[in-house]
Amino acid sequence: MLKIAVTGATGRMGNRIITLSQDIEELKLSGALERKGDDNIGKDIGEVIGLGKTGVIITDDIHTVSKDADVIIDFSSPSATIDNLKAISDKPVPFVIGTTGFSKDEIEYIGLYAQKTQTVFAPNMSVGVNLLLKVLADIAKVTGDDYDVEIVESHHRLKKDAPSGTAMKMAQVLAAALNRNLDDDAIYSRHGLIGERTQKEIGIQTVRAGDIVGEHTVLFGGLGERIEITHKASSRDTFARGALRASLWIRKQTPGLYDMQDVLGLK
Ligand code: NAD
Repeated sequence: MLKIAVTGATGRMGNRIITLSQDIEELKLSGALERKGDDNIGKDIGEVIGLGKTGVIITDDIHTVSKDADVIIDFSSPSATIDNLKAISDKPVPFVIGTTGFSKDEIEYIGLYAQKTQTVFAPNMSVGVNLLLKVLADIAKVTGDDYDVEIVESHHRLKKDAPSGTAMKMAQVLAAALNRNLDDDAIYSRHGLIGERTQKEIGIQTVRAGDIVGEHTVLFGGLGERIEITHKASSRDTFARGALRASLWIRKQTPGLYDMQDVLGLK
């Protein structure tokens, strides 16, 4: 039996992770964390998200959840994730981090935390996107500088960070395969008399509208042809299932930083 605690417990992702965890026999929900001041602190998480009584009371104290959890699953906000990791750094608990939008310094801190215990950090936990990441590198190695690379991502109107963590991960994979540096070669928007496209640039464009769960298209534009690869998530359950799979996988690992490619055996 693996005891899991969930941060951002009443959020869009937290809700689905907790709901789906109820169907997995090896998992037991042991904790639910929300932000200070949240109206649901002190209530039973099951009653808040429509599962009925679970006996797990929502708290705003990370220590209360960490002392009783084998793994903490985190889909909250970058500052919340880092604050929580720092708060338990002297008694670290394996963490599965799905939160996106971290700064370089924050990513560095996650790396330090992972030296102490098993940590999965992945901006997209779906099987499809992680397969795509593998395929993208293979394509880019063949198309090379002859094909222009553009990424277009679309998400719901409530998403706070841009471009999506997934689009940035795709850009990193493509840049590595093409021997480019994203700091120099990423172009995040275009407007006005910008001149011809350079061969090296990797365009990353963002759409925000309605309730789009998450869509990513990578376009390789050559002369006389183009390749477009699109992933569409139609439900958050694909990410939630990935996070639960990562929690079951992580307990058998040694301390270190892992991603979903590791979890899915794609490396
Ligand atoms: P959301 O806004 O619905 O939920 C976030 C929750 O975190 C909220 O309930 C909020 O109150 C809570 N929270 C804020 N501060 C907290 C704190 N200090 N401690 C505990 N909880 C706190 O957002 P969401 O759609 O569920 O997404 C959450 C994050 O997950 C975002 O960064 C999003 O981009 C990312 N995400 C990742 C994947 C993936 O596969 N990795 C998939 C979807 C979303």
